[in-house]
Amino acid sequence: MSHTTSRTNFIHGLASNLDNLREQGLYKPERVIASRQGSEVTCDDGRKLINLCANNYLGLSGDESMVQASIAATEQYGYGLSSVRFICGTQTVHKQLETALSAFLGTEDCILYAAAFDANGGVFEPLFDENDAIISDALNHASIIDGIRLCKAARFRYAHNDMADLEKQLIAAADKRHRIIVTDGVFSMDGTIAQLDKICDLADKYDALVMIDECHASGFMGATGRGTHEHHNVLGRIDIITGTLGKALGGAMGGFTAARKEVIDTLRQKSRPYLFSNTLAPSIAGASLSVLERLSNSTELRDRLHANTTHFRREIEALGFTIKPGTHPVVPVMLFDAPVAQKFAARLYELGVLVTGFFYPVVPMGQARVRVQLSAAHTTDQLNTALAAFAQAGRELNIIK
Ligand SMILES: *Cc1c(COP(=O)(O)O)cnc(C)c1O
Repeated sequence: MSHTTSRTNFIHGLASNLDNLREQGLYKPERVIASRQGSEVTCDDGRKLINLCANNYLGLSGDESMVQASIAATEQYGYGLSSVRFICGTQTVHKQLETALSAFLGTEDCILYAAAFDANGGVFEPLFDENDAIISDALNHASIIDGIRLCKAARFRYAHNDMADLEKQLIAAADKRHRIIVTDGVFSMDGTIAQLDKICDLADKYDALVMIDECHASGFMGATGRGTHEHHNVLGRIDIITGTLGKALGGAMGGFTAARKEVIDTLRQKSRPYLFSNTLAPSIAGASLSVLERLSNSTELRDRLHANTTHFRREIEALGFTIKPGTHPVVPVMLFDAPVAQKFAARLYELGVLVTGFFYPVVPMGQARVRVQLSAAHTTDQLNTALAAFAQAGRELNIIK
């Protein structure tokens, strides 16, 4: 009897919390795509839309080359391993991918995870303890925050992208054995690029290590796409790099940590998401390997992405929209007001453009926006069609003249 009451109350409690989310406009519905991911997608209502909200920076997610590479790897290595890496879940393709990622990123060694969330979740606890300090940017990704929570090190937080505050925190952490500065290489809400040149100088001055999360950078930032460390000319000065295979580098799933071999060896022995979770599917490992080969041979995709980004940033500003300035393919189109951002995204959907509105608490109060993300797969025609839709919706909603 009491069991039934508890269960009923439990479900009612959840239902009422969900109703609250809906009332506050914070409930996140999911669009259903019936096609491959790409610069254009077909939704389950039959609508064709130009897609401006995927992390598909290099346009590889739905690309036929990836489908074929994953089929080839599946043919050779099978569907899965039914094992963690250290029992019987390591194939040559996993070792090859780890070697190729290390070479691409300019590190000694690399370890694969099922996701970057796991890479960040499993990186701190094996390497740092109560004698150490982790100094983290206030806007770092949720997975970094969770990873730090699982570790006994003292926690220091610096104001987002604020080098003076970072220096203060480094001084405050001076008596610790090791200090590590942790930052997203690129912050995904604003497209802000971390000031790695200054961060590395501060790390040298205060004897600290540096870790970057390259989820929105690996594959396209820097002259040859190696990442934010290449962009800022600090290759070789970063101690730990985490990243994802689920964005630019193919878009399926999977993550990695790259560092000196002693760091990676320690993670293989002690990192819990690595030890206690299944190995990356061979189809993903093989297809990711083909991406790295392709990127090492040519900067074509990266160059096309940056050309698309420059075009879109210039034209959207020419229409009179306010954007966050920068150079990254994340382009926040600022609408400031949450209901306006929602209406604008809904109208763009009707006009054949897929974007998402972001508002508080995902971004600060009064900073509502739609976040555009460019892809190497976008054609100039698609971008111009999307820009015309932005212009029409913008005029209808009195956002631009
Ligand atoms: C997307 C993202 C992650 C998580 O990556 P997954 O591989 O999808 O788990 C981690 N950090 C940052 C900065 C991200 O943007």
